[in-house]
Amino acid sequence: MSERTVTGNQGIVVAVDGTSGSGKSSTSRGVADRLGLRYLDTGAQYRAMTWWMLAHDVDVHDATAVAARVADPVIESGTDPLSPAITLDGVDVSEEIRSDAVNAHVSPVATVPEVRARLVALQRDVIREALHGAGIVVEGRDIGTAVWPDADLKLYVTADPAARAARRALEEGGSDAAAVQASLESRDRIDSTRGGLAVPDGAVHLDTTPYTLEQVIERVVALVESAKARA
Ligand code: C5P
Repeated sequence: MSERTVTGNQGIVVAVDGTSGSGKSSTSRGVADRLGLRYLDTGAQYRAMTWWMLAHDVDVHDATAVAARVADPVIESGTDPLSPAITLDGVDVSEEIRSDAVNAHVSPVATVPEVRARLVALQRDVIREALHGAGIVVEGRDIGTAVWPDADLKLYVTADPAARAARRALEEGGSDAAAVQASLESRDRIDSTRGGLAVPDGAVHLDTTPYTLEQVIERVVALVESAKARA
């Protein structure tokens, strides 16, 4: 039985997977805003979990130590595409989770099975709630493969590494693009070997390299409209 049948609701789920800096966050938020859908940034949850472990002196390279504390942080994700705040134990950590320390340690934390199990359960709760309304755009690495394989539309978003690094460096307020590229490539390596990054069955592959954000949003809005017409 599909997740959609279980909920018995009419909302739609758009699963957006792909690499960091591919434009998937801006695209997901833009599409959700245009279509009146909620938005969930699952990467922010893995980042918040990592920030909490670092703040509580847990050795993030010790999977057993991470697993032992996995239930402790209270993580709440806002789903407004225009201001998707995330709180940890009631405190907004939207800025902290973008720090270099989190960038450097999030991939090993995200490979701990207990971390994935807890966050996937949280994500499914948020999705079920959103299905009472118009639906949700969910962004991550494993949404179409593991979190919600019955999504109405699955996207796999990529861009070439230099374009990704330049975009991410700009988002991070003018960081060094070469250093950003090295950090992105290191995370990609871990994510695609031990993490959850894989191309979902039936996904539409979007290479955003030659397009503006507005063009990519237009294309995805059209894909969502035709998926809705088929539903
Ligand atoms: O998307 P973002 O770059 O913020 O994700 C940070 C990290 O969180 C990724 O590099 C990956 O290790 C992990 N992640 C994951 N599964 C997801 C989303 C993110 O493992 N669904």
